[in-house]
This record gives sequence, C-alpha cells and structure tokens, in this order.
Amino acid sequence: MNFGAQNSRAVLSAGAQALAAGTSSSVVPPTRDGDVPVFDPVIIHNVPGVTNTLPPWSNTIPGSISAILNSSGSFAGHSAVSGFLTCPQASYLKRIGVQRRMAPILDGVLAPLNPLEFGTLIHALLAVRVRWGFEKAHDVLDECLLSKPRLSSVDHLKAFHILKTYDNTFPLRAEPFQYLGVEVEVVACIGFLPSGAPMLRSARYDNLVLVPSISPGVGPSVFSLETKTASRSGGVGQYRSQFVTQVAIFNSSPLRLTYGPMVGVIPNIIVKTEVPRCERLAPHYVSVHESTIALAYLALPEIVHFPLMRDGSYPKFLHACWGKYSPCEFIGLCWENLLGDYEQVVKTPKSITQ
Ligand code: SF4
Repeated sequence: MNFGAQNSRAVLSAGAQALAAGTSSSVVPPTRDGDVPVFDPVIIHNVPGVTNTLPPWSNTIPGSISAILNSSGSFAGHSAVSGFLTCPQASYLKRIGVQRRMAPILDGVLAPLNPLEFGTLIHALLAVRVRWGFEKAHDVLDECLLSKPRLSSVDHLKAFHILKTYDNTFPLRAEPFQYLGVEVEVVACIGFLPSGAPMLRSARYDNLVLVPSISPGVGPSVFSLETKTASRSGGVGQYRSQFVTQVAIFNSSPLRLTYGPMVGVIPNIIVKTEVPRCERLAPHYVSVHESTIALAYLALPEIVHFPLMRDGSYPKFLHACWGKYSPCEFIGLCWENLLGDYEQVVKTPKSITQ
C-alpha cells in the first residue's frame, strides 16, 4: 500500500468496478422490505496480508502511558484515506511516525493529555478490561502514574471515573453479546492495480462483537462496537463515513464467511463530563448502497494523484492547516519550519483478539 503520487490508476475487481461506477453488481443480493441489508462483495482470500482468521488474544499488557500513546492506528483504513485526501503531506508525516515531541514534562509528569491522547488512553483501558477484567485495567491506569513519563493526576482521576462508570453501566457479565476481539485490525483486498498488486484496505475495530439475534428468525450477527470519547452527548453523524467503511471492509474479508456478515456499528459513547456518562446508541445499520460507495471511496487514493514539489514533499494544503476546531499538528513544521519541535517514533501495532 502506497498512497503516493507515483501510483498508477487502479483497476478494481469485477465487483468493485461495478460498484465504483455506481451500478449494482450481480454479487449484491436483492433485499426485501424489513430485511437487514447485507452487502455481499467479492471476497479475495489468497493475497498475502489479507485477514483470513482472527489472531489469538494477545497477552501483551501496556505497561506505561508512552506505550499506550505510541501504539499505531490502522495502516490503510478510513483515517488513512480521509487524511490522504485532506492533506497528503500530513498523511505522509503520520505514516512515517513524525509527531510533535511529547508535551513538556515537569518533574517527570506529562502535561494534561489532549483530547486525542486521552481518547487513546481510554480505548486502551477498555481493551484491557475486556481481555483481563476491570481490576487489571485499573492496574494499568495506576502503572501510568508510576512509569516515566508519568500521567498527570488530573488525567488519572478523570480516566478512573470513566473506567468505573463504564464498568457500572455495562458490566462485562451482563453484556448482551460475545466479544470476538478488541483492538483488532482486519485487512481486506478490494481490488488490483494494473501491475497486479493488490489494493489492501484495513479497519481497526475497537470491539468486534457477535449479537445472538437481532430479530426473530435471524441468526447471530457481527457488529462493530465503536467507542467515541466526547465532550458532550450528541449525534454521531460525523462518524458515518467511518462506520460504512468498517462494515464494507469486514464484509470484503474472508472473516464474513466464518462469522457471518457485519450488519452495522453500535456507537459506544463516553461523555467526559465531570461526572462521566456512558451510553450506547441504537445501531447504525449499513445499507448495500452505503457499502458500495464506501468501497469506491476507499479506492480513491490509488486513483487521485497529487504532484510532488521539487524537494519531494507534497504541496501544502492550506485549506486544511487551521481546521474547524483545532490546527493541524504539523503547523509548526509547515508554517514555521520548527524541526526541533518534532520527532520520529516507531509505532507498535496493537491487537487483542481471540
Ligand atoms: S500544516 Fe497544512 S500543509 Fe502542513 S501537513 Fe498540516 S494540513 Fe498539511
């Protein structure tokens, strides 16, 4: 996978080609009113890198806040694609592990985490909770206070309240589904380039869950239980494009043949107010049409080409620099050339599955 300007135009597989052209493919079955629509794309097995089976549960427990914050995201998923289309230079810098140096440390204690970092901490704690239980998740949080650099006591207290509230709201023993995996990466092949190279796309699922029966006569169904940390309650409309790509990638992978199709995403919302609130919203069922446009969207980086500057970097996408809510994290590099404020770190993959 290389989201670079040198890539040649993609040739989609027979199914995906029809989908990209907006026509219905013969592999998509008709649905009747009241049916849960199930996308049925071509599944390509025998390509290296494609996830044929879920890996075993990992026994690796994150031992420090830096280990948690340095875990990598999905290598070719929704964020990678949307990031590339928003600003290819930011996408490239993220991919090679460039990041702003960690916040200034006072006596070995980190400055309060930004919302993205705090969300990463909560995701890691909840994954440990599913794998080893609440007590172990609590131990990991406490360990973040001891290892260097240390988590600030403000963030520790906030995370503790969230963890406790979450455990009281959704006790593991009362979950209405079976966990297939947490923090699990699934890779699917959605087509081939003219060179014959596969187009691999991935999704990182916070939780893959199997719901016994969503309606009478319907067997177990796979859902993505997707955790979002938010400042306030509200809708999840801004995450719809992520949701549809999650479903399209799972259903394009051989896992669909083992576990059945993924039919939707259950938003798992954690509101970070002083007294935290944890709520699960009604599932977002993904239609056949949404799935088809998701696959065509995921193929775009192989089709859209950006020219390179003389120094080998991408042009500066100024429309994306200052953002709607916060500036791009590479503002200091692109606008001020502050090389010393940034470092390159090796990210470690995270996956806990059964
Ligand atoms: S600062 Fe602007 S040009 Fe630079 S990486 Fe960020 S969005 Fe792209």
